[in-house]
Amino acid sequence: MIVQPKINTRKGSAEMFTGDVYIDTVVYSVESSPIRVNSVHFTPGARTAWHSHAVGQYLHVVEGTGLVQEKNGEVKVLRPGDTIYTEPGIWHWHGASKDSFMTHLAIWEAPSTGKESDWGEHVSDEEYNRQP
Ligand code: MN
Repeated sequence: MIVQPKINTRKGSAEMFTGDVYIDTVVYSVESSPIRVNSVHFTPGARTAWHSHAVGQYLHVVEGTGLVQEKNGEVKVLRPGDTIYTEPGIWHWHGASKDSFMTHLAIWEAPSTGKESDWGEHVSDEEYNRQP
């Protein structure tokens, strides 16, 4: 058994996010397990850059109102209790709506070799403002 004590909240990097985002690690990496879980807190208007995950990703919304979009798809509104699965290699972004905080759990697996995620361009205001 391994106890994983709470570690300090960290700020999401300006390369990966627009706006202020704070990240709490929920499940640390353990050599024998590829499972990764973060609790990600987005301030209103904050969002990830465009990115994709090698082995896919689940998002589970805990509070607030969120948005998610995959490449060439519509912007979808997320509510507490919603779970979204993004398939491996699909480019997408997620974040808070303009007028609400949003917290989600991000649950994914590390691939056996290579990068967990690829990161690209920031989500422009024009792309973000296409929200429903
Ligand atoms: Mn993602």
